[in-house]
Amino acid sequence: MGSGRKSAGPASQTILVVGGGIAGVTAALEAAEAGQDVILIERDASLGGRVTKLNRYFPKLCHPTCGLEINYQRIRKNPRLRVMTMCEVTGVSGARGAYAASIRRHPRFVNERCTACGECAKATETMVVNPFNYGLDRVKAAYLPHEHAFPMRYVVAPEAIAAGEGEKLKAACVYGALDPGDKGEDFDLHVGAVIWATGWKPYDPNNLDGYSYGHSRDIVTNVEMERLAAHDGPTRGKILRPSNGEPAKKVALIQCAGSRDLNHLPYCSRICCLGSLKHAAYVREQYADAEVHIYYIDIRAHDKLEAFYNRIRSDPQVTFIKSKPAHIRIGDDGRPVLHGERTIEREIYSEPYDLVVLATGMQPSAVSGYRPAIDIVSDEYGFLVPCEGDEGGIFSAGVATGPLDVSMSVQSATAAALKAVQAVRNS
Ligand SMILES: Cc1cc2nc3c(=O)[nH]c(=O)nc-3n(C[C@H](O)[C@H](O)[C@H](O)COP(=O)(O)OP(=O)(O)OC[C@H]3O[C@@H](n4cnc5c(N)ncnc54)[C@H](O)[C@@H]3O)c2cc1C
Repeated sequence: MGSGRKSAGPASQTILVVGGGIAGVTAALEAAEAGQDVILIERDASLGGRVTKLNRYFPKLCHPTCGLEINYQRIRKNPRLRVMTMCEVTGVSGARGAYAASIRRHPRFVNERCTACGECAKATETMVVNPFNYGLDRVKAAYLPHEHAFPMRYVVAPEAIAAGEGEKLKAACVYGALDPGDKGEDFDLHVGAVIWATGWKPYDPNNLDGYSYGHSRDIVTNVEMERLAAHDGPTRGKILRPSNGEPAKKVALIQCAGSRDLNHLPYCSRICCLGSLKHAAYVREQYADAEVHIYYIDIRAHDKLEAFYNRIRSDPQVTFIKSKPAHIRIGDDGRPVLHGERTIEREIYSEPYDLVVLATGMQPSAVSGYRPAIDIVSDEYGFLVPCEGDEGGIFSAGVATGPLDVSMSVQSATAAALKAVQAVRNS
């Protein structure tokens, strides 16, 4: 890659990292701490990516915020690393050692003078869907992305400006941080190597015809379950039925919801089984009398995570049912009812639940129509193939390359950083 391509301007030793999830943050820090100048571009209003929305990490059930905060401390201390949020790369041209990257910054309407005092949120009357909680609730249109956001800076949704609230919000900010006229901007960066760490998005549960997502609020996805269990989620951490706010004590977890299925995602996303084991633990921690049923094809608890599986399996109130449910209907009492056959016992069931969680898989972000302008190679599912050979300067890391958990994402990011450092130093 890059061989024979015309270079874009003078050589640069700066490394551009696209995507500020755990993989991008890791790659950026490793390269900066090795002595390179690094620019980290994130399209959202704050760093951390999808892991900021996880309640806890398997297998130890620790909170993601600890590890993220350590990384943010490393960023604050490193003058070689520059972070740009609300930015996307719209094109890359050139060759190893001299790439030109075109960047589009989207308007935030709040500048770096923001102290996160929250006066703008008090001033706005507009409400918007809360992206942090996957749309399970709404927030004021002037909001902090979440309580541990980095940078700790408010963002104003375009809806508030469209509603004519710009000047009112500006007047409410004594620090001069509100900029209702922010139009965003386009600019170019000259860099020597690029690491794509653009991560993943959840598979769309609306594609799973038989599973009635969208027909009952008590049928949620695994990423939504993370928010239902989180103290800063829509229910302040209580696992409740979204339809009526009652405790969700009888819970079904459906594995491979769309995964390992030629009609949807033919591949295994590798983390869904472990994610559901974690969800069983969340429910059991909250309700001593809870019943959790895990519907599975086979359980894939890879590497050292088998012990976590055995721990959850030993809980007598967690039942593993070998079956792929055929469909979900809504019962007369409004509860979702699973229909299918227990594969081992050859028994037909129709079982009502308070809450059903669909373990949907991970799809590369790049699939959503966004393609890096330069010809980075992707596989048949849209995952980006890490650059091979000695000549290229384009690399990829984390779930952008394939389904990985956090520790594997960090390893792949460290490897990508090392390759990028070698690329700029040898070009
Ligand atoms: C239900 C569930 C539970 C999970 N639980 C665990 C767990 O307990 N433990 C564990 O180890 N793993 C867990 N995982 C896996 C974990 O979420 C991933 O390993 C992790 O998110 C990978 O991080 P990443 O940086 O590669 O991607 P992401 O987290 O997706 O980050 C990518 C970043 O890139 C940004 N981006 C995307 N496109 C662009 C663009 N064009 N320009 C600029 N920025 C862009 C995005 O906004 C995002 O911030 C879970 C996954 C699921 C689905």
